[in-house]
Amino acid sequence: MQPLNPVAVAPMGNELAISWNDGVEQYLPLELLRRACPCAVCCGEPDVMGRGETPARHYKTGSFELKSFEFIGGYALRFIWVDGHSSGIYSYKLLRSL
Ligand SMILES: [Zn+2]
Repeated sequence: MQPLNPVAVAPMGNELAISWNDGVEQYLPLELLRRACPCAVCCGEPDVMGRGETPARHYKTGSFELKSFEFIGGYALRFIWVDGHSSGIYSYKLLRSL
């Protein structure tokens, strides 16, 4: 079986369109995409007391606007947001689960 790969990725207004090599077309709202950011800053880590507290996420102007994106090693996409955030690496598996 061929590994899952996006054949086309294109921002369209408030959405990101992804065409996958299995024929699936996905339209992801940019806000959903940003809120799903898997980086440590956005997801947080349990603190020393073991409370898995979710950190306060600070979204601001541009947080839900995509500046650019890049492919990472054939397994993931990195999104660069207008507010400067760019540490989230979204595996293809994660993207498909959104
Ligand atoms: Zn993040």
